[in-house]
Amino acid sequence: MQNNKTLTEKIQNVIKALENNNMRGIYVKKASEIPGIVKDMLFPGCVITAGGSVSLSESGVSDVINSDKYNFLDRSKKGISAEEQQEIFKAAIGCDFFFCSTNAITENGELINVDGFCNRISSIAFGPKKVIMVVGSNKIVKDLDEGLLRIKKVAAPKNCARLGSDTPCAKLGHCVSLSKSDNPDITDGCACDSRICCSYLISARQRIKDRITVILCEEPLGY
Ligand code: SF4
Repeated sequence: MQNNKTLTEKIQNVIKALENNNMRGIYVKKASEIPGIVKDMLFPGCVITAGGSVSLSESGVSDVINSDKYNFLDRSKKGISAEEQQEIFKAAIGCDFFFCSTNAITENGELINVDGFCNRISSIAFGPKKVIMVVGSNKIVKDLDEGLLRIKKVAAPKNCARLGSDTPCAKLGHCVSLSKSDNPDITDGCACDSRICCSYLISARQRIKDRITVILCEEPLGY
């Protein structure tokens, strides 16, 4: 197990790699530092959307963006209709801030994300003026291959279990494709209607500098 100094250095190296990729990286030691950083980024009345994320709730960011000071368009609010949800997905294209986490972040400063419905990856790629990601050090991987495996071994199964999705990984704890191969292709896996691994987005060097900010926390967050 790596010691804290090694982990801190590793995170600082990832932040340098993000900066090389035209993304902003912010190091925090503890998750409790994150709400204050987020409050300093926002302005009264700003329009905010967010992807479903355990990291946002665990870090306290969900509570910050839910404040009356901001115009948070909550696609998960109680009693929301499918039509209202669609309107929020469309509004995300012009919003000021989009909050989410990432499924994995490589030592080379690449962000790897997979979606079933794809509203999250579409907002990461295009639309919101600023994308703010809250990411625990548990999501750092060596490279793209390790990141894709992390999705099949950790992120997708745990998210499917959280959402109550009827997928094999929610019961097995890993992608069904790993029962046949140690190194499955991204198309391998289940054929369920509720499959979560449909479209992959890899965010490498960005054209718009600092549109994406990653708040990278030494403490683990989400999965
Ligand atoms: S392909 Fe299906 S079983 Fe595999 S991780 Fe994705 S949702 Fe789960």
